[in-house]
Amino acid sequence: MSHDSRPKAAELMDQSDPLFSKKGSFAEVFPSIESCVIEVERPKRGPYGEKEILKFTETNPPGEYVDCTNPKCYGGGFSIGIVLRKAVKNNDTNVNTSGLCKGQEGSPKGAKLDRDCMSHFSVAINIKYKSDN
Ligand SMILES: [Zn+2]
Repeated sequence: MSHDSRPKAAELMDQSDPLFSKKGSFAEVFPSIESCVIEVERPKRGPYGEKEILKFTETNPPGEYVDCTNPKCYGGGFSIGIVLRKAVKNNDTNVNTSGLCKGQEGSPKGAKLDRDCMSHFSVAINIKYKSDN
């Protein structure tokens, strides 16, 4: 297992070939995937409280980011793209990971104290590769 550095969100946004930018591109971006199931658990109206689970597949792929539901959060979300690319690179069939939103909360009274959004995302990915046979 290698510890490769994680790209920053801004770098991802600058990529000329964004993930899933158009329908049907999933198979082009991940030609080795035959099928996959991606489950993302996030707060229903973050960052705390009730959770909801989003389900994606190769025919219903997620975007690069799953949005944060915290109404106070700026620029929030969790990058599924990073997790998926890493999984495919490592030929992983099962990935369970989690992380915090990349956004920040702003004070409703306009104070300058921003703090990291505490919305937590849990991700479970199951991939079947075409070369599995
Ligand atoms: Zn957030």
